[in-house]
Amino acid sequence: MENDGHEATIDTVPLLSRVRIVLIETSHPGNIGAAARAMKTMGLSRLDLVNPREFPSAAATARASGADDVLMRARRHDRLETAIADCGMVVGTTARSRHLEWPVGTPRALASELSMLPSDTRCAIVFGREQSGLSNEELAWCQRVIRIPTDEQFSSLNLAQAVQICSYELRLAALGERASAPVDDEPFATTEEVANGIAHLMRVMAQVGFYNPSRPKLLPIRLQRLLHRSDLKRSEVRILRGFCTAIDESLIPPET
Ligand code: SAH
Repeated sequence: MENDGHEATIDTVPLLSRVRIVLIETSHPGNIGAAARAMKTMGLSRLDLVNPREFPSAAATARASGADDVLMRARRHDRLETAIADCGMVVGTTARSRHLEWPVGTPRALASELSMLPSDTRCAIVFGREQSGLSNEELAWCQRVIRIPTDEQFSSLNLAQAVQICSYELRLAALGERASAPVDDEPFATTEEVANGIAHLMRVMAQVGFYNPSRPKLLPIRLQRLLHRSDLKRSEVRILRGFCTAIDESLIPPET
């Protein structure tokens, strides 16, 4: 899409239309409304809600202050996986400065990275519960984790304020988005494609006796983290699955 960086509007900024905001198990419906308002002011429109405690709700509509269309189009899900199934880039947010398994970036660096991704790669930014944030299982779906660099001693922002800051950074990045397409425009594999690849790998690992499904331990989640961290392209998932299929076939005893 043509974009000289000066006349960018919501209609001509593709980054904003391919990023969705995902809120997990939000307790206070007012936060959902305030998040919708935060999004709309920055030109974002796609909101996905995983098991909100109360929605739709008058409190959400009141706090949306006119961003009712974002609320009306919000999609509900029972599980995070379905909210991100078609995304090729999933980003978790955290108020904590240290997560053992993940390098934690800033919203600014992330927004700039997202603006360089192949234009058909859909992105999700995932926000956690007001009380407890995101679980480790949820973080394992994420290819990146970002933290708004608040004071270490008092790091936790209100949910909707965190959405506001991240949306603002996305908007700034979108306004400066490159006019030309990225050099490597091969799409990232979607979460669903990677999840199917992991399931295939686990089946083969079980078949060859490397993994015992009745005693799963940490292997599945570690594998999930490894593969989600690897920014797999579609063709790379196909290589992985082709290899699994070859192992599968080599295990079938020859017909007599
Ligand atoms: N006690 C929780 C804080 C949850 S705040 C915890 O320790 O994780 C609710 C949500 O707001 C978080 O899950 C995250 O999505 C967002 N949030 C709050 N402060 C943030 C910060 N400094 N950086 C990034 N996201 C933040």
